[in-house]
Amino acid sequence: MKCSICNRKAVYFQRHSNRHLCRRHFIEDFERRVKIAVRKHKMIENDDRIAIALSGGKDSVTLTFALSKLYGKRRNLEFIAITIDEGIEGYRPPTVEIARKITKELGIEHVVVSFKENFGMTLDEMVRRGDKKPCTYCGVFRKYLLNKTAREIGANKLATGHNLDDETQTILLNFLNADIERLARLTPQRVQEGLVMRIKPFKEVYEKEVVVYGLLHKLPLTFDECPYSYFPVRTSVRDFLYDFENKYPGRKYSVLRAFEKLEPCLRQLYPQIKLNMCEKCGEPTPRKICQACRLLDELNP
Ligand code: SF4
Repeated sequence: MKCSICNRKAVYFQRHSNRHLCRRHFIEDFERRVKIAVRKHKMIENDDRIAIALSGGKDSVTLTFALSKLYGKRRNLEFIAITIDEGIEGYRPPTVEIARKITKELGIEHVVVSFKENFGMTLDEMVRRGDKKPCTYCGVFRKYLLNKTAREIGANKLATGHNLDDETQTILLNFLNADIERLARLTPQRVQEGLVMRIKPFKEVYEKEVVVYGLLHKLPLTFDECPYSYFPVRTSVRDFLYDFENKYPGRKYSVLRAFEKLEPCLRQLYPQIKLNMCEKCGEPTPRKICQACRLLDELNP
């Protein structure tokens, strides 16, 4: 197949635009859409110090590379990568190594923080000790550590590797669960004291495009899945969206645009509440004691 733009050999068929793209035009198109999303939501601005949530998985490795390539030369911007080592034997150590390698190659400062050092036990130990699902512990403690570390290193934004597939799955899942409050939390640029603002530069590119972009740049991508990964409802939503997109290309963008139209109503319906500081650890929480401290109390009776 030839590229629809220049006649060179195509490496990718972009279903939503019905175009075949060669290496050069695929990369140009990908980077252009990332930059448009970044500008549209003012994700990156002068004098930002941006923490990148770098797990070492394919999305975050590609994000770190893309941010460095597209914005790394700007003098008034800083990037620092944060890797959270949850302590998942056999799965996390190789991705921590990938994170170390890529940040060294790109010349980006890198901080690794672990569950063991901060909470006294690894995720594997929490799972053996507690009665909650692994992802409950992982989600709460990882979010906690990412925010705390980003704030402590002086970052004003925290970039994550969420892509168009992740975003549309989350939007639909919240609708299906009738959890409109959680849906409202997806609206961009929410600023709350103590919480570092999240940005998602890949939110307008498909997951497979992230992978192709990473492969074309010969990045060290890993496709291993976490041994605790178990999301039956999200998997059903993902499969539904995949089939729907296959039949009607571009529908994931429709989901995102529909959500954007609802954003003003969601902001009105759920205005931001002022957060408290956790009475135990001082981290921001809507309650008196944060979720991480409550889980730790359960794990250390
Ligand atoms: Fe953590 Fe669950 Fe993701 Fe594994 S699948 S990294 S336990 S959230």
